[in-house]
Amino acid sequence: MTEILFPVEDGIARAAELLRTGALVAFGTETVYGLGGDATNAAAVARIFAAKVRPRFNPLICHYPTAEAAFVDVEPNDVARALAAAFWPGPLTMVLPRRAGCRVALITGAGLDTLAVRVPAHPDALRLLAAVNRPVAAPSANRSGQVSPTTAAHVLEGLRGRIAAVLDSGPCAVGVESTVLDLCGARPILLRPGGVTVEAIEGVIGPIEPLVAARAIRSPGQLPSHYAPSLPVRLDAVSAAADEALLAFGPPCEGADLVYQLSEYADVIDAAARLFDGLRWLDAEGQRRGLRGIAAMPVPESGLGRAINDRLRRAAAPRD
Ligand code: AMP
Ligand code: MG
Repeated sequence: MTEILFPVEDGIARAAELLRTGALVAFGTETVYGLGGDATNAAAVARIFAAKVRPRFNPLICHYPTAEAAFVDVEPNDVARALAAAFWPGPLTMVLPRRAGCRVALITGAGLDTLAVRVPAHPDALRLLAAVNRPVAAPSANRSGQVSPTTAAHVLEGLRGRIAAVLDSGPCAVGVESTVLDLCGARPILLRPGGVTVEAIEGVIGPIEPLVAARAIRSPGQLPSHYAPSLPVRLDAVSAAADEALLAFGPPCEGADLVYQLSEYADVIDAAARLFDGLRWLDAEGQRRGLRGIAAMPVPESGLGRAINDRLRRAAAPRD
């Protein structure tokens, strides 16, 4: 059952309580309806991917009630501060480096060292975010491959029964997604056009690079790439050598001393929640112990298993 809540005091309080317990709540913003989950709770974020039936982990945007709250988790530079002053609350998402001690779970940013943050310009969304008092990860509240929802009815068409609640704050005003800017490099890069125009942004911070131009100019090493472990990853391992670390799924196979258990009972949602921490931990600890690689046990290609396998295949792909 999906509860339908309204943005009165009780409704906001209920939505906030659900989010704080790890449940998923869709809520209206000025752009589209977001599918919210506690961004600090890896299991909640794994359930976002499961509810959307996403075939891969892509980095999600974290929503905050104020710029100060956002800048607790990411490190702003002068350009970010100027943009926040000009456009927040509003449909502008900034990609910035995670701070040391960032509360946001690694799965929220698909394992990256950067994080996309935004303060939405919607009074009910802001009340909800203030009540939750934690970063809320929220991609659009639709199933993967379907159009973004701009009413609570759209959300229910795709997600009824798959999420705890929807906070019905009426139709969205903007209807297009937020503009996404990468502010991690020397020059800002437009990753996605959206609700705030390039002209408006350039009016505040000067010229920005379109993604295509930026790709050509910047070396691949500077581009936001997915975190890949330094140790080579071997897929579909049915046994492990003594000098390999093991990423286990279900009962661990024989051979390895260093084991990270993704899910003892072979549950793909649990495994998704632990995947990014597991890869990082095995990589660091494996290197410390002088191991030669990470052996990953097979994960079924169903549900979130697809996204896990997509991530593992990327980690195992040859690199230069
Ligand atoms: P959605 O949540 O569906 O609105 O999409 C979020 C958008 O932000 C996608 O285009 C992501 O690729 C982009 N994004 C989120 N986090 C990052 C990040 N850390 N680095 C680069 N792009 C990001
Ligand atoms: Mg979407």
